[in-house]
Amino acid sequence: MTTKQVPVTEGLFAETADGPRLLGTRCTVCSTPYFPRSEVCHNPDCREKKMQEAVFGPRGTLWSCAIQDYPPPPPAKYDEPYKPYAMGVVDLTDGLRVLGRMSTNDPGSLQVGMDVELVLEPLHHDDEGNAVITWKFKPVV
Ligand SMILES: [Zn+2]
Repeated sequence: MTTKQVPVTEGLFAETADGPRLLGTRCTVCSTPYFPRSEVCHNPDCREKKMQEAVFGPRGTLWSCAIQDYPPPPPAKYDEPYKPYAMGVVDLTDGLRVLGRMSTNDPGSLQVGMDVELVLEPLHHDDEGNAVITWKFKPVV
């Protein structure tokens, strides 16, 4: 029996020919990036409000992180037994600052400023045993 993989939410990320990417939009006038997608530019100095599809990732730098030492309250999902994990804020090289779970078995080893890359990995397993996939950031060694 193989485990089926399902995205945590449709339209947020994709496995492309070049590897995993986040799916967003970018303003064609001022180049402001948006993830998740935005239909309008929220830059108050920008008047044109023309958006185009954009993909982001995979490389970036860890800007900040925090370890979730105890199980988060609903609607957060996790596999039992609970294992502490880290949430990171990453500056992608293409100008997007994005929040994501960190992919590491040793959250205490994470350091601000380290290079990370986008990966698509299970967040938890649902009631049917499917692996629910989300985006994470993995330290580049
Ligand atoms: Zn704009």
